[in-house]
Amino acid sequence: MGEPERGDATAAGSNEAAAAPEYYRLSVGDVTRSLDTDMRSGLTDAQANARLADFGPNSLPAAKKIRLFQRLLGQLHNPLIYVLLAAGAITAFLGEIVDSSVIFGVVAVNAVIGLIQESKAEAELESLRSLIRTDARVVRGGQEHLIPSEDLVPGDLVRLAAGDKVPADLRLTRLEELQVDESALTGESLPVVKSDQAVSKEAPVADRLSMAYSGTLVTSGEGQGIACATGPDTEMGHLHRLVGAAVPLQTPLTAKLAGFSRLLSVGILALAAVAFAIGLYRGNEPAEMFTAAVALAVGAIPEGLPAAVTITLAIGVARMARRRAVIRHLPAVETLGSTTVICSDKTGTLTENQMTVQTVWTPDRGYEVTGSGLAVEGDLLGADGSGADLDADRALRWTLLAGSACGDAALTRVNGGWSVVGDPTEGAMLIAAAKAGLQTEAVDALMSRAATIPFSSERQYMAGLFHEKGGGYLVLAKGAAEKILDLCNTEMNAEGQTRPLDRETAMQKVSELADKGMRVLATAVQTPGLSGRARFAEEELRGTLVFTGIQAMVDPHRATVPAAITACHTAGISVKMITGDHGRTAAAIAAQVGLVDGRNPGRVLTGADLASMPESEAAEAAGRATVFARVAPEQKLRLVEALQARGHIVAMTGDGVNDAPALRRAGIGIAMGSIGTDVAKDAADMVLTDDDFSTIEAAVEEGRGVFDNLVKFIAWTLPTNVGEGMVILAAILFGTALPILPTQILWINMTTAVALGLMLAFEPKEKDIMSRPPRDPARPLLTRALVMRTLLVSGLLVAGSWGLFHWELAHGADLAEARTAAMNVFVVVEAFYLFNCRSMTSSAWRVGLFSNKWLLLGLTIQAACQMAITYLPAMNTLFRTAPLKADTWLLILATGLVTSLVVGFEKRLRRLSRGVGDI
Ligand code: ADP
Ligand code: MG
Repeated sequence: MGEPERGDATAAGSNEAAAAPEYYRLSVGDVTRSLDTDMRSGLTDAQANARLADFGPNSLPAAKKIRLFQRLLGQLHNPLIYVLLAAGAITAFLGEIVDSSVIFGVVAVNAVIGLIQESKAEAELESLRSLIRTDARVVRGGQEHLIPSEDLVPGDLVRLAAGDKVPADLRLTRLEELQVDESALTGESLPVVKSDQAVSKEAPVADRLSMAYSGTLVTSGEGQGIACATGPDTEMGHLHRLVGAAVPLQTPLTAKLAGFSRLLSVGILALAAVAFAIGLYRGNEPAEMFTAAVALAVGAIPEGLPAAVTITLAIGVARMARRRAVIRHLPAVETLGSTTVICSDKTGTLTENQMTVQTVWTPDRGYEVTGSGLAVEGDLLGADGSGADLDADRALRWTLLAGSACGDAALTRVNGGWSVVGDPTEGAMLIAAAKAGLQTEAVDALMSRAATIPFSSERQYMAGLFHEKGGGYLVLAKGAAEKILDLCNTEMNAEGQTRPLDRETAMQKVSELADKGMRVLATAVQTPGLSGRARFAEEELRGTLVFTGIQAMVDPHRATVPAAITACHTAGISVKMITGDHGRTAAAIAAQVGLVDGRNPGRVLTGADLASMPESEAAEAAGRATVFARVAPEQKLRLVEALQARGHIVAMTGDGVNDAPALRRAGIGIAMGSIGTDVAKDAADMVLTDDDFSTIEAAVEEGRGVFDNLVKFIAWTLPTNVGEGMVILAAILFGTALPILPTQILWINMTTAVALGLMLAFEPKEKDIMSRPPRDPARPLLTRALVMRTLLVSGLLVAGSWGLFHWELAHGADLAEARTAAMNVFVVVEAFYLFNCRSMTSSAWRVGLFSNKWLLLGLTIQAACQMAITYLPAMNTLFRTAPLKADTWLLILATGLVTSLVVGFEKRLRRLSRGVGDI
């Protein structure tokens, strides 16, 4: 048979692509034939390359763009815009064609800018996805490889393990207790138990047990299958086309702002109506009053706010990505700034996850292992300094054998050096055995594994049933010392004979090593095995294993961690360590990184402690403790809930399948980019590409910065809107001419938002950002201080523009010229006030006038804009402005300077009298 048929992906409206065979109802043999692959060795590299060229990469094309026009309409779907549109329409009806076109023009420009910003923010988030790596394990040419999942092609033989995201639609060929969470595809939240048997043709997607679908998650077991559809041809690809998944750009803050603008628009409309009525009552022309009402409406609407929020968030996301924290859900950017407690894994996050066995202990002897790191260079030395003799200490031989054979890691030579594929804990034991002469090949020559009780964080040990070459069966086990000792009644002496277990001495040795911060594993053996049966169960091990010894390994803490922990503490964030490791190991590492005081470490809470306490007491204890040891993943969820019940905003790290519920529940779920499973990454809000704890601290810092910049923008923009509204209202109430016209107001709002306000998003973080407490998420956006500030600045704006308008009129200027002056007052005051807004507390001078070069660029652009609207004849006609005399500019600039000085004074007062509250 030739190359497989490409499914007709364009078959409109149909999930079942017409030409694609229904692999789920074919036998495995038929599937391999039809896809021209081999059940054992997979495709050849040549086949795979040819198919990749044919079928294209195994990735979903960017979500089908919703039509541009529709998206543009989406931008207009905003109550504030409705007000503008209505204003434009009625202005046109009144025959003011120029004004009406300016209003419509502004609405259009606003929509286009919004659209561009939104698309950029989406693209930014979208591109971050590629930073979160997903690899697939495939067998090609009979060998297993780890390849980027984009390179998968139909016919590839793919291996699955718990925690993986299924990389393509697979027809399962072999599986062991494989369970898959298909909620992404079918909405069913319970994992589905898979099978390799063909199912009937009519079976709906949810019932096709013989298939594992792309994008679903393996929750337990393992399996193998043949890729039969990749990329857009997968079921997920069909679904993707239907919904055209877009990245949601909503966050609690944007939702709050949306509510705010709905409220605002109602208020503005009411105010405009009242103004209109007052004018009519006073006997003014309805048309004139209508213009005034429109001016009021457009003036009070903060047109630039939604775009500014999106951009600020997007810039924050980009900054975090540069510091190796990838945001998956936008709200996380905000929540990070409020985080009050970070619960961090020990292994791999606080430490390097580079294990080296340094001590081996058997019931009769003790050994030191020399050499460090991945190199198989070093020796096992006995107490007298001589090399270890595996024949003189049989227990040592079994301890090393168990460590080496009973594991899934592999030690391979790569151009001169060594590399471990798999769990570093197991890699360290492979290296220790090799240093004593038990190389992997030698061990493989002795025995082969027939059955496995796999390691899991709940079980805390691993056991294997081995078939000795030319002999019978034997069992080897390794794992947490308590767990292994629980399975043993006897121990092995140097001669290889058994004697009753001296648990006390063994546990004492474990504690002694753990106190140095070492991870300690015990090993056990059962020989001659379970009478030749190639099957074994956990219950059969209890009391039948012989304890052979322990291996202790160091895992140095990451160099950056102590500083990051200090920074968190200064920032009012508590840090807790959560680990499956031994309590004493955890306590020792906690002291090394400065999490606890070494002399006064406080109580280490274990999972067993937590489980035995009543709910309320456990919550209380969880709040107090810093180090949690021997914790099972499902206890992490309880911990998150307990902390949340005490009012904390919790950031929680995790990497395994069972960490997912805790990650979802936490305010910020954080997954490890390199050691984490796909399941954990899927559940997380943020992924650390370098797995490093200090990256979390960096992200918190950036999160605080983003929020600061948002507040700064709001503090800067509100006074303008309020000021404009008040000036118009005053004109109506006093029955004078409008100091600024609606089109001029729109000009002010649009140009300053883009040229001035947006530059605040590029403002560097404030120096004290990590020395203040976390932001209370319940704190309102409009604090009292912010309202006061808004009133102050808008009052100054009104005084300045109203004053100058009438001064100009009194000194012989015509209406157009006086209005131009008033309009320029608004812009210039905003420009000066911008410098006040660069820091919420410290003075404009302290920040350094030129430390944000974007701001200088923005000022230049704004100045050019003002020159244009003041002096270009065409602009004069369009906006009914007129050229200003030079001395008028002096008055305008003076108003700006005074405002800035007054606000500076206000800030100083606020600093001096603490408790007045921050903006
Ligand atoms: P951590 O939270 O530090 O990653 P784990 O849950 O991975 O802790 O491990 C808990 C305990 O299980 C360890 O202290 C160790 O004794 C044991 N252990 C860890 N890895 C393995 C393994 N691959 N095989 C057997 N036992 C292991
Ligand atoms: Mg681990």
